[in-house]
Amino acid sequence: MIAIYPGSFDPVTLGHIDIIERGAKLFERVIVAVLSNPSKQSLFTVDERMEQIKKCTQHIKNIKVDSFVGLTVEYAKIHQAGVLLRGLRVLSDFEKELQMAHTNKTLNQEIETVFLATTKEYSFLSSSIVKEIAHFGGSIDHLVSTNVAQDMYQKYQNQ
Ligand code: ADP
Repeated sequence: MIAIYPGSFDPVTLGHIDIIERGAKLFERVIVAVLSNPSKQSLFTVDERMEQIKKCTQHIKNIKVDSFVGLTVEYAKIHQAGVLLRGLRVLSDFEKELQMAHTNKTLNQEIETVFLATTKEYSFLSSSIVKEIAHFGGSIDHLVSTNVAQDMYQKYQNQ
């Protein structure tokens, strides 16, 4: 079974990588799909985000990093994927994720959403928190991979 792990990944965090690693053990192949959303302002371009994910997932053999525009279920269908992989951190994720899973089910009955519970130490971790800390000059070395931390420090230095 092929699984799609869709998200913004702006930037990819250790919490995301944990989900990718665990998903790759469960599924034949995981496609990490960076959503290109022109109406949402992002810190990194889609290409930059894909490059960051590729660099920190080199140790995982059965994954592919890609990007997409539009409906996730349509993207999944094109790639013959039967699963949408998502992570759950806190209760507030649940409401949003459940709504999205139900909506996707109405669009395509064949595609299941599978949730992986976050690993305890990453339950507070989000891309927004990483951006906020880096913006104020704090250390993010324990929250993202080395290549992402370097990209972030450089980005905020140039701002
Ligand atoms: P989106 O903008 O679609 O929420 P994100 O890149 O923030 O995309 O997240 C993609 C998926 O990864 C979501 O299902 C989100 O709940 C999950 N996720 C994000 N951070 C973590 C984490 N620290 N632990 C587990 N899952 C996470």
